[in-house]
Amino acid sequence: PVDTTIPDPSLVIMIGAAGAGKSTWASTWPDTQVLELDRFRALVSDDPGCQEATGDAVFALQAVLEARLSRRKMTIVDSTNCDQKVRADLIATARLHGMSTVALVIGTPASVCVDRQKSRPANRRVPEAIVRDQHAAMVDAFARLPAEGFDHVVVAENIHRLEALLQRASD
Ligand code: ATP
Ligand code: MG
Repeated sequence: PVDTTIPDPSLVIMIGAAGAGKSTWASTWPDTQVLELDRFRALVSDDPGCQEATGDAVFALQAVLEARLSRRKMTIVDSTNCDQKVRADLIATARLHGMSTVALVIGTPASVCVDRQKSRPANRRVPEAIVRDQHAAMVDAFARLPAEGFDHVVVAENIHRLEALLQRASD
């Protein structure tokens, strides 16, 4: 059965390729609850697309994440999270603070994700091969998410369907 539960508080880990619509969906949450990796890249380097800044951006994001989770604050991590190691670190941090974890899978088709790169500013455009790798990793991860330790796995192939799903859950 499809899980439609996002407990409050919890740590929500979005999973989806570049262009899947993660940030669009995250924008429906209060902005202080959303830790967007691109935003942290911008905070440390003035360039949200600066890949060289990723290490420092992850470090800064992690510090804010720990401060929030220690206060039991609802938190959404908005980055691709297609890498198993990245998810494992986030789950471990949540466990440390006794927070439940939600995998929020944005399964937008790869072709749509690729297409959406074209309308982006050059510094935010992700190469097609990388988008397709991220998408494949997301598909590959899907069945394994409960075994990775997520308390809930919520999935939607696009944000409109996800909104409908969550709407029904709260009825
Ligand atoms: P990234 O990982 O690169 O930050 P993302 O998953 O956050 O990508 P968004 O920035 O939310 O993706 O969306 C990419 C583009 O697609 C944006 O231009 C956005 O306006 C558009 N978009 C997002 N969701 C939808 C949708 N459901 N229908 C139409 N366009 C959408
Ligand atoms: Mg985004």
